[in-house]
Amino acid sequence: MMKYMKRTICICLLATILLLQGCLGAPGGVVDTGKVPPSTRAPSVTEYHLNTKYTYRTQVKEEMLVTGLHPDYLLLASKSYPLGKGYAPKMLVTLENRILTSWHQSEKIQLEARAATALYAMLAEMEADGVTDIKVTSAYRGYQYQYNLYNKYVELEQKGISQEAYQYFGKTYIQTNYIDRGIACLTESDAILVVGSYSAPAGASEHQTGLCVDFITAGMAGELTEAFASTEAFAWLSQNAYRFGFILRYPKGREDVTGYRYEPWHYRFVGREAATDIYFGNLTLEEYLGH
Ligand SMILES: [Zn+2]
Repeated sequence: MMKYMKRTICICLLATILLLQGCLGAPGGVVDTGKVPPSTRAPSVTEYHLNTKYTYRTQVKEEMLVTGLHPDYLLLASKSYPLGKGYAPKMLVTLENRILTSWHQSEKIQLEARAATALYAMLAEMEADGVTDIKVTSAYRGYQYQYNLYNKYVELEQKGISQEAYQYFGKTYIQTNYIDRGIACLTESDAILVVGSYSAPAGASEHQTGLCVDFITAGMAGELTEAFASTEAFAWLSQNAYRFGFILRYPKGREDVTGYRYEPWHYRFVGREAATDIYFGNLTLEEYLGH
């Protein structure tokens, strides 16, 4: 009897080891899941999405959110992947004044239609949670608009030595090349480098996709700064934006991947599924798309 039990235990143990090896994909195991670390993973319906329950306090029309992966909303626009002069979103809608900063209310601020629907739903949910200090300060920007904006920044940077210039070059560089030589303004080539760290040349801005927005609060005095990261709105967005299909596009410490400094105010619509994967996978859009 003892002998029989021992043999049964042995067989069970062996079976467990084999099963574990298979599951873990150990060398020689039969199961190869082909899984790669999240940072290099291509788009897929991941475990994050499948296990995520979405609940809403307000009446969110789920069918209006992009709930599956859709190539139109996974469009990559960056300095490495510029959209060029010809690209314009298929359907733009003009955003309502009530969600815009006061100084933009005479302008026509537009956003891609599905992204706009998701934005309204997100802002309504935020308000229901008691977060009301938030406005949109920028959305779709066409090629020509970005062309003018970029050139304006390059011009402005040459009028002195900005905080951004100090941040980009470091104190020593500015001291040696400018202060010690009695030069008070950046050269054009240095200005272009500084501007490149916070603004895209025409054709390379994500705002040309019509899928992203910049948020601002009343306390920020019209300046888009990292102060946004300390606001209630940011805290809310950090936890909830993915449920509406938005991602923080330029996260802190990921400058080497995105090519942009940390922008806590810049949110990009990718659709709910991709946003959920990106959020829980701690990815950037570049990594998610395998670039
Ligand atoms: Zn932006």
